[in-house]
Amino acid sequence: GQKVVLITGCSSGIGLRIAVTLAKDEKKRYHVIATMRDLKKKDKLVEAAGDAYEKTMTLLPLDVCSDESVRQCVNSVNDRHIDILINNAGVGLLGPVESISIEEMKRVFDTNFFGVVRMIKEVMPDMKKRRSGHIVVMSSVMGLQGVVFNDVYTASKFAMEGFCESMAVQLLKFNIRLSMIEPGPVHTEFETKMMEDVAKMDFPGVDADTVRYFKDVYLPSSTDIFEAMGQMPEDIAKCTKMVIESDSPRFRNLTNSLYTPIVALKYADETGGLSVNTFYNLLFNFGPLMHITMSILKCLTCSCLRRRTISPN
Ligand code: NAD
Repeated sequence: GQKVVLITGCSSGIGLRIAVTLAKDEKKRYHVIATMRDLKKKDKLVEAAGDAYEKTMTLLPLDVCSDESVRQCVNSVNDRHIDILINNAGVGLLGPVESISIEEMKRVFDTNFFGVVRMIKEVMPDMKKRRSGHIVVMSSVMGLQGVVFNDVYTASKFAMEGFCESMAVQLLKFNIRLSMIEPGPVHTEFETKMMEDVAKMDFPGVDADTVRYFKDVYLPSSTDIFEAMGQMPEDIAKCTKMVIESDSPRFRNLTNSLYTPIVALKYADETGGLSVNTFYNLLFNFGPLMHITMSILKCLTCSCLRRRTISPN
């Protein structure tokens, strides 16, 4: 029969694309429950799904920050039977930490970390009873390597990686798989939303040098990186489909080979100096030539440390 796949955060970006890709599976192997906080935002998804809408794809409201919403959503699934849970909902946060309130930081953790924990807590007991299931989590390269001025976002993804790394062992005993997808930059509203937030920032309590490093050094190189190395949501959806269709799904799944040297650095030098200094040089010494530097870095990185990506090509 069809596998029931529940996906969080489907009104845009990667979540939307995963929902559509699975709903349009040629062999109709999936029934997709595409969820979003506000069903008023369903139009883009419904349009992209075309004929699949209300056949292999149905919609449900779900806010991963609300215990009540998570419970109600899972309760309204037939027999609460979910074969594959895809935790995709997430928010970014960019900027000097001095200008970010603890409240804002908590909101990021509530979505990116506790949102995943809420979903897993709600779905896991049924999966355990059935001795089957697959839990997929949208992590990031920033779940493996810290990135300047993304301090809190990175921390939220690290928290989730630690949680999943621990859970994976127990879940395996119940024949439940857990996989993380770790994209580099992806062209979605995520990027646009963060840039809009940044434009509104007035940096209270931040010294002029830090503001300058953020606005004049970090932001332009970040834009360069997105342009040079960004993937499309379709790429991430294809990788995710490969992961859920694999007989022995990988736990970690980097999607962008241009990023593998970055995650290898900390394994190449256990003191951490290599990664800190490389990032320092990338930002402050090479700035505009960042992507060229990245390619050189890729060639230099010891081949035994090169990480294999999941790739449909
Ligand atoms: P996006 O902003 O287009 O999508 C995120 C979705 O999550 C949105 O639809 C948003 O409404 C939803 N969401 C936010 N808070 C929610 C909540 N409380 N409950 C339910 N839904 C909520 O951005 P995206 O790039 O598609 O992001 C999807 C995931 O991919 C995120 O977890 C993000 O951290 C991760 N990611 C993104 C990139 C990137 O560069 N875009 C890179 C690596 C990882």
